Amino acid sequence: HRHRAPARVGTGAGAAAAGTGGRPGAGNGAARQRPGYLHNLLPESAPDQPETLEQVLDDVKEKILPGVTHWQSPTFFAYYPSNSSVAGFLGEMLSAGLGIVGFSWVSSPAATELETIVLDWLAKLLNLPEQFLSKGNGGGVIQGSASEAILVSLIAARDKVLRSVGKNSLKKLVVYSSDQTHSSLQKACQIAGIHPENCRVLMVDSSTNYALRPESLQEAVSHDLEAGLIPFFLCGNVGTTSSTAVDPLAALGKIAKSNEMWFHVDAAYAGSACICPEYRRYIDGVETANSFNMNAHKWFLTNFDCSLLWVKDQCALTEALSTNPEYLKNNASQANLVVDYKDWQIPLGRRFRSLKVWMVLRLYGAETLKSYIRNHIKLAKDFEQLVSRDPNFEVVTPRIFSLVCFRLIPVDSDEKKCNNRNRNLLDAVNSSGKLFISHTDDIYPYISWTGNYDVVENFQFSRRDEVEDDRIKLLMKMIMSH
Ligand code: PLP
Repeated sequence: HRHRAPARVGTGAGAAAAGTGGRPGAGNGAARQRPGYLHNLLPESAPDQPETLEQVLDDVKEKILPGVTHWQSPTFFAYYPSNSSVAGFLGEMLSAGLGIVGFSWVSSPAATELETIVLDWLAKLLNLPEQFLSKGNGGGVIQGSASEAILVSLIAARDKVLRSVGKNSLKKLVVYSSDQTHSSLQKACQIAGIHPENCRVLMVDSSTNYALRPESLQEAVSHDLEAGLIPFFLCGNVGTTSSTAVDPLAALGKIAKSNEMWFHVDAAYAGSACICPEYRRYIDGVETANSFNMNAHKWFLTNFDCSLLWVKDQCALTEALSTNPEYLKNNASQANLVVDYKDWQIPLGRRFRSLKVWMVLRLYGAETLKSYIRNHIKLAKDFEQLVSRDPNFEVVTPRIFSLVCFRLIPVDSDEKKCNNRNRNLLDAVNSSGKLFISHTDDIYPYISWTGNYDVVENFQFSRRDEVEDDRIKLLMKMIMSH
């Protein structure tokens, strides 16, 4: 938009404080706006006549951007990263430009075939067992979110077991997970009709760094079997949302197998790290799983949305999810020559999402992606060290990936008071609008090291170490000053 000054994004204050030369601050939108702010700024109804692009962009600048929270900002440390990149952005553009809807192979063959290829490439990068590759009964699919990946796995498992025990047994089916499992499993159970009393949320604690103990699982399963219930689904975690806990997959998978349960592994955030040989051990035991998910839109430089799911038995998915109306029938599908991803997901329509992962993989290459992950983990380590050296703070759970959970050292035996001090700190930092950090149960605040600061030039990353230093210093300064 040539005639306008470039839009300034965010408060800019974070950037100025960080000495980052005008890069946007976290621009925590919620710190600057009250609920309903936009309602007061925009008309009650859509215009009857077209407006100019200039008018619309003016509104974007003046009304929309002030209410945006900048997830790609170098001072955004909240939740988990959702890192985009130039390659991912280009893939999105291509996909939007082509504007295809690839629900079946015939509706756009390249979309289906590229997805299969890219998911196989990634399975190999993660060193997933061969059964997850498309050449046998398994394969990968791109879902919009981990929540959908978990839901379709649960539904596949449910229908598989119901086919053998009978549909009337739905109320006897039991699901197991640790209490650190993401709430998407609970939502999936609600949607899939699992009886709320049959969702076993097994307690974990700091003695296992919040990982699920196989003994707890075994005990719960035995108890349910004695009660005449049917254990059928276990969700294990690699990198929980609160503290990046890693469950012992091999031991859990053994229990699942001996009880004929479906074992799903949720590695939504941390899965990306497992492309590095030194972090691959965190998914050791994945060979015992029936399904595995990882969000490329979290920590793999692929613009939102892009959640990857692999299954060992694609028929379990298609038997639960396929429909075949007349208007979708075609020779390739009828002859069983092709994959129709509509039968691996909830919606019919689907975007050409594999383009962006393909572009990320091709324009950066696996080695660059590995160094990107390693850099974030190094930065988180640096921050962890600064926190642990500070007499006011303590690191609460051991850092594994790029998430650091820390809190003010309790000065009072009253837990409530200690939590309030942390809450006040969190509120003060976040309401400044310069940083955005998150909290969790009684381990807060927490920081995940979002790697928005890697600079991409000609599709190569260059690390700006002095800038990264600034970023860590800014973070400490902000936290200390509150
Ligand atoms: N699983 C884990 C471990 C997560 O951290 C998250 C989100 O942060 C999810 C699942 C849900 O992800 P999505 O938003 O893709 O449904």
